[in-house]
Amino acid sequence: MFTTKGYAAHSAHEPLKPFTFERREPTPVDVRIEILFCGVCHSDLHTARNEWGSTTYPCVPGHEIVGRVVKAGHEVKKFKEGDRVAVGCMVDSCRTCPDCEEGLEQFCEGMILTYNGKDKHTGAVTYGGYSTSIVVDQNFVLRIPEKLDLAAAAPLLCAGITTYSPMRHWKVNEGQKVGVVGLGGLGHMAVKFANAFGAEVVLFTTSPGKTDDAKRFGAHEVVLSRDEEAMKRQMNSFDFILDTASGKHDLNAYLGLLKHDGRLILVGIPPEPAPIGAMPLIRQRRRLAGSLIGGIAETQEMLDFCADRGITCEIEMIPMEKINKAYERMLKSDVKYRFVIDVGG
Ligand code: NAP
Ligand code: ZN
Ligand code: ZN
Repeated sequence: MFTTKGYAAHSAHEPLKPFTFERREPTPVDVRIEILFCGVCHSDLHTARNEWGSTTYPCVPGHEIVGRVVKAGHEVKKFKEGDRVAVGCMVDSCRTCPDCEEGLEQFCEGMILTYNGKDKHTGAVTYGGYSTSIVVDQNFVLRIPEKLDLAAAAPLLCAGITTYSPMRHWKVNEGQKVGVVGLGGLGHMAVKFANAFGAEVVLFTTSPGKTDDAKRFGAHEVVLSRDEEAMKRQMNSFDFILDTASGKHDLNAYLGLLKHDGRLILVGIPPEPAPIGAMPLIRQRRRLAGSLIGGIAETQEMLDFCADRGITCEIEMIPMEKINKAYERMLKSDVKYRFVIDVGG
């Protein structure tokens, strides 16, 4: 075991504070990573505050991890000391079930979350990337292409893959009209990907001040979702809408914007359930689905795609001590557009 420094939530109602803990030594197939940067996802906040009701304390959040390999187990073939690597939302899975065989480890019953999961080796709760190092099986470690800036790549590990995967799965393409709900960490990546896939992109936001940024990221049009008239003008016109909003909002309003056979895909996870009317679905044979991050192979594909196309996240770097302030700003939708903790700085 070795000692690691981090930041942890000790209950739903307290700010995060410094926390020192032990990590296991790498097994022959693990790598030990010195963490340089960690993105701050709204899921970290939901979990730290137990908004989904499943948090084990103390909780060290963080699943947008980038760093360097400092030690590789003797059976590790994929990485060596010094490699630029990343870890996303999962650190392990069963490897043998049909989901794992299809590269959909995120759906595996035995999937282990990077934090607030149960470590396969020690049985203890897993601790995430708001910390100086982590030990992960080589098969759940990603490679950061040389072209990508390490800090700006960190949020790709969750915000990136969570928006890339559903657009790939449902084949967002040229000639389609695509909506993105919310311009936060996930939303701004969704706008960039939808634009890169050739779609006509419309951003729905509750924040009038984000219009120019949204256009700079690739939105062709911006609609203020609280403007009923503006929403009405968009009715029956979308092929695909990706909903990234983290707080309570009306899903029926977005269903009504889909054309026949259009899809509303939920990736945002507000703590409260949202009522769905049958009528907006039945009319126009519309579809409602959800999507959870993406598999390991697809995450590598996304990283390579970003390197190829020059896509990165818009980040605001913070020292670890500012994490509680960052959470407060996140709750006010005041994130431009992802906080990244400068762990190594
Ligand atoms: P974020 O950076 O805080 O952005 C969320 C954005 O949603 C806000 O900036 C705001 O955008 C909009 N919003 C917030 N409250 C709203 C409300 N009450 N009504 C309408 N819009 C609202 O959060 P994030 O990190 O992108 O995460 C977004 C959600 O996705 C979270 O619930 C998170 O847990 C979830 N998530 C899911 C997955 C998955 O695999 N499915 C993965 C990662 C995260 P505007 O200011 O533009 O309105
Ligand atoms: Zn996340
Ligand atoms: Zn499995």
